[in-house]
Amino acid sequence: MDTIPATETLYHTDTRLFTFPSATLVAITPYTPQPTSQHTTLHQFHDLTWTQGEYALAFDKTIFHPFGGGQESDVGSASFPSSSPATTTFTVRQVRFHKPTGAIWHYGSFQPSPVDTTTLPHPGATCTLSIDPTIRIRNARLHSAGHLIDLAMIDLGLLATTPAPDSDSVPGAKPQESGSGANAKPGKGKSGFASGKGNHTPGDSWVEYDGKIPEGWLPPRDIGDRDAQPHISAQGHPQASPAADPAVDAANAAILAALAGAGGASAPTKGKGAKPSKAAKTPSLPPIDLPATLPGLLTVSLHRILRAHRDTTTSASVLSYTDAAALCGGSLPVYIPRSSAPRIVVLAPGAVGCPCGGTHVGSVGELWKEGAAEGRNSAVRVVEVTLKKGKLRIRYEVDEA
Ligand SMILES: [Zn+2]
Repeated sequence: MDTIPATETLYHTDTRLFTFPSATLVAITPYTPQPTSQHTTLHQFHDLTWTQGEYALAFDKTIFHPFGGGQESDVGSASFPSSSPATTTFTVRQVRFHKPTGAIWHYGSFQPSPVDTTTLPHPGATCTLSIDPTIRIRNARLHSAGHLIDLAMIDLGLLATTPAPDSDSVPGAKPQESGSGANAKPGKGKSGFASGKGNHTPGDSWVEYDGKIPEGWLPPRDIGDRDAQPHISAQGHPQASPAADPAVDAANAAILAALAGAGGASAPTKGKGAKPSKAAKTPSLPPIDLPATLPGLLTVSLHRILRAHRDTTTSASVLSYTDAAALCGGSLPVYIPRSSAPRIVVLAPGAVGCPCGGTHVGSVGELWKEGAAEGRNSAVRVVEVTLKKGKLRIRYEVDEA
């Protein structure tokens, strides 16, 4: 069983490949109550629920994204039209990736169940694979949103370089991969946060960052207007300094007030880029209240990024280690072997890349929401930010397509 060949990952080629008519069955195994020497592989997934009457199937190639990288597995079916006496349909309930062999296992049951075992397909049989497109798109949107939040964290100057720990994961993905910031450059060489774990499960989606607030950090005062036209005064004159976004202004004011209360920081400066005072760099000052200020800032930044890139397309390419590192800000996380050819996703042209085995939206424009309230057109909504013991966790939701 452990000699099953690596499965070709068709889900990497096209997020919207919902059906594939010519997969070949390479292995079929009925449920066994206990792992045996022959079936240890099939039982090794601690989060798998495999039950009596079910089977595990492997194909030469698959459109099913397995559970991993923080992304849920696809569900769907495999239809064997050549089986006797009639079409046999296998309902795929869970999918797992076996890292040592590269094989992807599909767990589920034949219909009708219990199946007449004399009609079961044999290795070599051809079948049509179909996934549930609603689940796929939902998962791709939730997963891509994690990357998008990484970009917003970079936009805000909070995300730094990250080597992440090694662990089992889906092909090409980092452990519970969280998004594009895996190798984001630290904010202007200062300390900051690094990408950590992420989870893109419906109802429990979050990305986590390890580290601390960069020294002297303030949100960029002009972030809400970076891409906007110059403002025109009531008298019709262009204003020298565009008005900043109220959400950013509020965040800056709160931060500066906290700093001033702790020993005196200067008042917010006018115009672009409020500079941190010397007091802001004093270690004894109270920490900036990121959980309070970050949701609003991220909302501004997510809107800004989507507005700028909503007509572009995402890309994912298998590259040489050197080329992959260049696309990811100059280095790759430690869990990527130097001998490997990582798959790198770039959410929008010019954005920092990220090694990733997940499925993504074809364009970040799919996460742009027309007609949203207050001009915030992101379908990605930050619902909570927490900062505990050096772990900044951003919980989010994504509106349905
Ligand atoms: Zn991804």
